[in-house]
Amino acid sequence: MGRYLGASCKLCRRENEKLFLKGERCTSAKCTFGRRKYAPGAHGRRRRKESDYRVRLREKQKVRLYYGLMERQFKKTFVEAERMRGVTGENLLRILELRLDNVVYRAGFAVSRAQARQLVGHRHFEVDGKVVNIPSYRLRPGQVVSVREKSRENKKCPIFNAIETMGSRGKFRPRWLEANDDELTVLVKEQPRREDIVDIPIKEQLIVELYS
Ligand code: SF4
Repeated sequence: MGRYLGASCKLCRRENEKLFLKGERCTSAKCTFGRRKYAPGAHGRRRRKESDYRVRLREKQKVRLYYGLMERQFKKTFVEAERMRGVTGENLLRILELRLDNVVYRAGFAVSRAQARQLVGHRHFEVDGKVVNIPSYRLRPGQVVSVREKSRENKKCPIFNAIETMGSRGKFRPRWLEANDDELTVLVKEQPRREDIVDIPIKEQLIVELYS
C-alpha cells in the first residue's frame, strides 16, 4: 500500500488547518503552520474561489490526510461505510477510528499516526496475543492491543518516549479506550461515537456529498 512521502507541514498549509501529523513538533513553537499561514507553492498566497466542489473536496482531503490514507483506500473505506446501517458519515469516522494504527496513536503509544503505522508495520504490537502488522486492521470492542514482549525489553523503543510525551500532554485518551501504561495494553471498550472525535472539526456530511 502506498503512502505519502512528501513534507507533512505542506499538507497542513494546503488545508489551512493543523492536522497534527508530526507528533511533538506540532505542539511546539517549531510548527510551520503558525509562521506560514498560506498554501504551499508559487501561487499559494492567491485568493481562491470557494466553489461548493472545492469546499467538499478539501474536507475529504483533510480527513484522509488526518488518518494518513491514500485516495484508493479512503474511497474503499467510504464505500464500506455506505453499505453499513446508520449514517454514512458517522460510519466512515467509526471505521477510521477503529484502525489499529489510530488506536495505537490514541492510546499514546506513538506520537503521531505516521509513527503508529510504522510501529505496527515493524511488528511491535499484538492483538489478543497475536502479532498484527497491518495498520488498517479493524479492531472490535473487547479486543486488547498490547506491546510485544520483545519490544518491552528494548527501552530505546519509541513507544516509551511516546508514553512520556503523552504524560506531558495531560494523558488525554478517548472514553472508548482503556489504556494501561504499566502493562502497556489498551482495551477497546466500545465503538467510538461521533462526539468522541473532537481533535479537529470534521464535517463528514460534506464528504458524503462529494462522493455522491
Ligand atoms: Fe502541521 Fe504544524 Fe505538525 Fe507541521 S508541525 S504537521 S504544520 S501541525
